[in-house]
Amino acid sequence: MTTHERVPMWIGGKPVEARTPRFGEVTNPATGAVIRQVPFCSAEDVDAAVAAAKAALPGWRAAPALRRARVMMRFRDLLETHRKDLRKLVSEEHGKTLADAEGSVTRGMEVVEFATGVPHLLKGEYTENAGTGVDAYSIRQPVGVCAGITPFNFPAMVPMWMFPIAIACGNTFVLKPSERVPSTSMRLAELLKEAGLPDGVFNVVHGDREAVDSLLVHPDVRAISFVGSTPVARHIYETGTRHGKRVQALGGAKNHAIVMPDADLPFAVEAIIGAGYGSAGERCMAISVVVAVGDVADPLVDGLAARARKVTTGPGDGTDVEMGPVITAAARDRIKGLIDKGAGEGAALVVDGRDIRVPGHERGFFVGPTLFDRVTPEMTIYREEIFGPVLCVVRVDSLKAALDLVNLNPYANGVALFTRSGHAARRFQEEVEVGMVGINVPIPVPTAYYSFGGWKASLFGDTHAHGAEGVHFFTRGKVVTTRWLDPSHGGINLGFPQNH
Ligand code: NAD
Repeated sequence: MTTHERVPMWIGGKPVEARTPRFGEVTNPATGAVIRQVPFCSAEDVDAAVAAAKAALPGWRAAPALRRARVMMRFRDLLETHRKDLRKLVSEEHGKTLADAEGSVTRGMEVVEFATGVPHLLKGEYTENAGTGVDAYSIRQPVGVCAGITPFNFPAMVPMWMFPIAIACGNTFVLKPSERVPSTSMRLAELLKEAGLPDGVFNVVHGDREAVDSLLVHPDVRAISFVGSTPVARHIYETGTRHGKRVQALGGAKNHAIVMPDADLPFAVEAIIGAGYGSAGERCMAISVVVAVGDVADPLVDGLAARARKVTTGPGDGTDVEMGPVITAAARDRIKGLIDKGAGEGAALVVDGRDIRVPGHERGFFVGPTLFDRVTPEMTIYREEIFGPVLCVVRVDSLKAALDLVNLNPYANGVALFTRSGHAARRFQEEVEVGMVGINVPIPVPTAYYSFGGWKASLFGDTHAHGAEGVHFFTRGKVVTTRWLDPSHGGINLGFPQNH
């Protein structure tokens, strides 16, 4: 039996072996080979990480905001320097192409850049003479020890939606990345240390429900930011809030692209192919449903089918590869099972990715680009989040029917409209009940200084990630009302304060 390197935790500024006896396997999805072992941390392991974060809190929260920002500036430069090795790690454990992995590191870096502005972002308001001789001002303070729990599909970017802002605001942090992709977080921890972050401010534990539940009930954890699937997001939100914590839990998605008859068709086809099959469809903002309005349907399906057949599938580090494998054998089998179901329930299977073979990678977890036409809302492939390279075309006869379809869907993360009509676009952005909207933009991920988040079953909690809402989530507001008595004042007045 081969023994594999065990990924340590990161506690108090250094790698620490977990004490848990439970371990899982990390695989390279392109080869199917086990490459590392990951600890499934116990409550005791989590306790050690939270204790380190708690011990580091008083010093860090008292550090001037500009000093905290400078750590982020150095961290940002280190990310730039190590972009290539980060993308290699991301691609090795996740399977996405190197170019896609690098793009995701860059998007994460943009949040770090946003976090360097924290001295400005934490400025409060001041009112002179809120009452006679009374001044008032507002300040925002860190909430304390915060935890982040992240999914497998963005090993660098999604953690970086959270900890740069949390840390810049003066909190300390415990990250529990996905057990499928544990190594990138460890590299980020090393770079944070190199950037001058004091030990204990950032910590990493690994594992499954045991580690997560230990964080959810831990009395010293004050806020939890989660990104993952909807059933787990609901569990995180309900358990965390029941234990008195502030929680934001971003969940799953079923994102529609509506194509109007007046759309620029070749552009829409290219955009939808990228948004549907990029990262093998394993993006929470991936397009999974294409809504063809009116007579655009036939040429649209023909265009998508022709382009889908040309997508090159292979290992993420391969030359000219456009699409890598999915994350695990179980994910591959689940996706193939859903394709079986779609065909069985009467959808037209136009491009079938079930039997793909990638020479030299026979044990990799590949599913080829798949396209269904004439999908209806009752079908399983429409109702369930597939999280794989499967596009489903639904045909409708008007923009209103398209809006009704999107608005009835329980998920509401992202949506896109392809049109040349300003009127249709304006009506769409006003009436669609979805958190992130693209007009001729297939994946409308907000830039770092806006906030990322969906509506309905795609988000539990009130605040979205990063941008101003991220700062809000990781800080508590306080209003101070002050009176500095003039030595000549005439004594205490026991009446209700008057605002004049
Ligand atoms: P997941 O929900 O299985 O796992 C997410 C995290 O929760 C992981 O760290 C995992 O270890 C932990 N976890 C898993 N099961 C748990 C349980 N029963 N109790 C407690 N913790 C548990 O998600 P995933 O498969 O890693 O990622 C894919 C999902 O994430 C998709 O549904 C996708 O849409 C969603 N996602 C959403 C967004 C968003 O911004 N809304 C972004 C990325 C991914």
